[in-house]
Amino acid sequence: MEVTLISHTLEPESVVAAAARLSTSSVSATQLKERLSPQRVQRLLDNLIAAGHLSPFEHASFTFAIDGISRVTSHQLVRHRLASYTQQSQRYVSLGQLEYVTPHSIARRSDWEARYREAIEGVHRLYCDMMEAGIPGEDARYILPNAVETRLVMTMNARELMHAASLRLCLRAQWEIVQLFENIKIEVRKVAPRIGDELKPKCFHMGYCDEAECCGLMPKLDGKGAVR
Ligand SMILES: Cc1cc2nc3c(=O)[nH]c(=O)nc-3n(C[C@H](O)[C@H](O)[C@H](O)COP(=O)(O)OP(=O)(O)OC[C@H]3O[C@@H](n4cnc5c(N)ncnc54)[C@H](O)[C@@H]3O)c2cc1C
Repeated sequence: MEVTLISHTLEPESVVAAAARLSTSSVSATQLKERLSPQRVQRLLDNLIAAGHLSPFEHASFTFAIDGISRVTSHQLVRHRLASYTQQSQRYVSLGQLEYVTPHSIARRSDWEARYREAIEGVHRLYCDMMEAGIPGEDARYILPNAVETRLVMTMNARELMHAASLRLCLRAQWEIVQLFENIKIEVRKVAPRIGDELKPKCFHMGYCDEAECCGLMPKLDGKGAVR
């Protein structure tokens, strides 16, 4: 998998801070942004996060090129609705060469890895035969497995990134989407370290775990609402 931040709001953290200051100021966000020191920006972001006043984070957007994730994971990703996506089309791009993801639990067992590979290669041969026989790509693709790699461009604002990361960095989420959000976090930290730091599992925000099966990172909430 490869995740690259290809575009983002200029000075994303200053923009968030200026927007936040605007609500209680008589001057324009342009002036506020010019006047804010880096330290003041950080303090403002800390205060917004502590107060749960998250709407100013919607002014900072991040666009990622995401390559080489499975269709399993792209399907999970696009369930996050407050974002824009463009995905490589299996109707228009014929998959002469099939790239696919092999989960570690299969890759580490050579006998199962061989069966997995054979099954996928068999399906791919059938796909190629159908294409050669003139069956449209949009129909031949019905045979393709979830393991097939895909490419997307995703634009998400910082508020939704924090929300999605809180769900997808939880160790109860599937390993591949956890990996994806770990990569997203690395990219965001390069240009917006404070926002990047806030991309963390929900238990870090709440101070406890609300999952039925707890990984043990944080104390668990019992049935009566108490943390144990
Ligand atoms: C570990 C895990 C397991 C999952 N398993 C399943 C599963 O088995 N089956 C399944 O179908 N899904 C599953 N999901 C997907 C999950 O149900 C959500 O669809 C997904 O996480 C998107 O998150 P979200 O709903 O918070 O919304 P997002 O789309 O990320 O939106 C962010 C927030 O905006 C608000 N919002 C967005 N749209 C609306 C709206 N239309 N109305 C009101 N408020 C809105 C909500 O407050 C929402 O939390 C799973 C997710 C996780 C993390």
